[in-house]
Amino acid sequence: HELRTPLATIVGYSEMLQEAAQVENRTEDEADLRRIQGAGAHLLGLINQVLDLANVESGDLDVHIGEVYLGRMLADLRAICEPLIAQHGNQLEMQGEASGPVYTDEMKLRQILLNLLSNAAKFTRQGTVSLHYRVTSDWLEIEVRDTGIGIAPEAQSRIFEAFTQADSRLTRAYGGTGLGLAICRGFCERLDGQISVDSAPGKGATFRVRLPNERSDARLLA
Ligand code: ADP
Repeated sequence: HELRTPLATIVGYSEMLQEAAQVENRTEDEADLRRIQGAGAHLLGLINQVLDLANVESGDLDVHIGEVYLGRMLADLRAICEPLIAQHGNQLEMQGEASGPVYTDEMKLRQILLNLLSNAAKFTRQGTVSLHYRVTSDWLEIEVRDTGIGIAPEAQSRIFEAFTQADSRLTRAYGGTGLGLAICRGFCERLDGQISVDSAPGKGATFRVRLPNERSDARLLA
């Protein structure tokens, strides 16, 4: 809160002033305010990542298992990711079947998928990002695949560590902090699941997430 509240205020007010500048045709002010708002929103994103990671590392991560309707969640994610996907001329495909809800931690699953989809969009040009899911009574399996730059074999285990990127030179060109996948792994492990990657340079990347579907009788009885 100490970090988030003041920044949220900066973002909120610059947004408001930006709208006023737009209405009053003050184009220069509007451009400056847009920069302030953009930088503030970026910083807020970073702070949220650092706080998530701090929670993962301190073991202080609450889990809230509930009903999750994947169709609805993925439609939401699609709306959020669409601009990112379109930015580099990519297509987004989503496919899968779930007859009812899955039982997991909705916020964490959302964050995991958002991180994977934004990475896929970031490292792919004029290609395809696809998400496939499969639900069984015991497991939820999701695959996020892209046709982008891919990851060298020796970097594949490192990328799940905090502040680590596959290739610092390449990644500088693409931006990022190296926190997204560390958070994904932390969340997956906290939910008793796993995350893994399959990739080759120039051949795209496939990230697989496997989380227990907590509905299974065995788990409810345990
Ligand atoms: P960030 O993307 O902010 O740098 P992440 O932890 O999400 O941090 O990713 C770590 C690194 O893993 C990235 O910097 C990049 O080198 C590599 N990476 C992640 N996803 C992909 C992908 N879909 N294609 C290629 N490289 C990827």
